[in-house]
Amino acid sequence: MNLTDTHTHLYSEAFDHDRDEAIRRAFEAGVQRFFLPAIDASHISAMQDLHQKYPENTFLMAGLHPTHVKANYLDELKRVSEMLETDKCVGVGETGIDLYWDKTFLKEQQAAFRYQIQLAKKHRLPIVIHCRDAFDEVFEVMASEKSDDLWGIFHCFTGSYAQAQTAISLGLKLGIGGVVTFKNGKLDQFLHQIPIEHIVLETDSPYLAPAPHRGQRNESAYLKIICERVAACYGLMPKEVAEITTQNAKAVFRF
Ligand SMILES: [Zn+2]
Repeated sequence: MNLTDTHTHLYSEAFDHDRDEAIRRAFEAGVQRFFLPAIDASHISAMQDLHQKYPENTFLMAGLHPTHVKANYLDELKRVSEMLETDKCVGVGETGIDLYWDKTFLKEQQAAFRYQIQLAKKHRLPIVIHCRDAFDEVFEVMASEKSDDLWGIFHCFTGSYAQAQTAISLGLKLGIGGVVTFKNGKLDQFLHQIPIEHIVLETDSPYLAPAPHRGQRNESAYLKIICERVAACYGLMPKEVAEITTQNAKAVFRF
């Protein structure tokens, strides 16, 4: 298998006691690349340490997660901009808008999202979008920034078929993760209608473990389960889906 986990927080504290083991299990499951979306400045050194240890298999992003946009967000964005200058980053993210947890900083989330899109354009990098309860708000910013040099991934896509089409028309591929294995996830009902060239696979570990591990810590080895479910939706072999989605990830991140 040639699997690519386009979204994993493998550097997070959840893996502090068994990170190398988790990576070994992922390798054994056929996962060969780990794309590491940023959260905020406090996580950067853990990301850099992991990348130093696995330089061939891990890929860094710089970004400020929407749930971490607070009063100090301008300082945080300065660090994102600096990291893009000092580290070899393959994308900007995760960025976007999250109105599920807290609406207090909506204006700041919108401004931080737009700023990170502009950074991505400046550095000719893709963006990785996090969107929760905020499809309209995310699409509004994306539409106003739409251009040939704006592309990326709509991470953890859980929307409708119409929202999938909108995301694709805005230059985004859909990040498909554990939700595709959930009984009430809905995604599996229309996934086959979306041409597979618009799909990439992700775990979002340590969050959103696929069934039958739902509710437990997620890890990149479970990408194989997600791949098998996606393969069943499309009527393809898991091996083919792994190869196709890895090529799709290559088109986004240009590795
Ligand atoms: Zn994430």
